[in-house]
Amino acid sequence: MTTIAENLQQVRARIAVACARARRPAGEVALLAVSKTFGAEAVLAAAGAGQRAFGENYVQEAVAKMEAVRALDPQRAEALQWHCIGPIQSNKTRLVAEHFDWAHTLDRLKIAQRLSEQRPAGLAPLRVCIQVNVDGGASKSGVAPAQALELARAVVQLPGLVLRGVMAIPEPAPDFEAQLAVHRQVRAVFDAIAASGAPGLGRFDTLSLGMTGDLEAAIAAGSTLVRVGSGIFGARSYPA
Ligand SMILES: *Cc1c(COP(=O)(O)O)cnc(C)c1O
Repeated sequence: MTTIAENLQQVRARIAVACARARRPAGEVALLAVSKTFGAEAVLAAAGAGQRAFGENYVQEAVAKMEAVRALDPQRAEALQWHCIGPIQSNKTRLVAEHFDWAHTLDRLKIAQRLSEQRPAGLAPLRVCIQVNVDGGASKSGVAPAQALELARAVVQLPGLVLRGVMAIPEPAPDFEAQLAVHRQVRAVFDAIAASGAPGLGRFDTLSLGMTGDLEAAIAAGSTLVRVGSGIFGARSYPA
């Protein structure tokens, strides 16, 4: 077995244990493999071990990698799903709209409108999450919790998008309890949108929360999608 396959097995086991502790059905939490900085071979090694969903931060790196994966193994490439989890600048919206299945980092209506307009008609609507900033300063990405519902109400009206949930990248916290406290704030934003009764929330079911270092606390807080990079692929060789 490759290291990546072994790591994947361990991460899946961590998820299963965390689900059991949280008295949640295993299978309620999906795994997104964050492959930023790693190459097409690493993606294919994970795909060979059953992983389907991959997360990328840098749009150009991601698009080149998708092409490389397709060239190496066209059949397997067909089955993969790509999630944009990095910040989206206006000049990158077209690449995101044309190449990704999901975008987790919506925090401005203008970007959402561009993604919707640029989503090719032949593709399913882009699945999106609203990124919420619960613990950072104004310089950090994500909308303030108080603004999330307003953005959600606007995003659900865009025909090229389907609003699937909420995402956050909390600052590293020292222990489980501290992580859980922040994650619960994100969960509260998710719950408030879900309970708002806004039209267009029929598929609002995703809480994108938790990484290698805090996935247990995220699952305890209700995460349905953990984004794990180093736990699967190893340490990144340049900062990301
Ligand atoms: C890099 C990254 C991850 C994965 O982080 P690890 O600590 O390597 O698991 C998850 N989410 C986002 C948004 C990231 O940028």
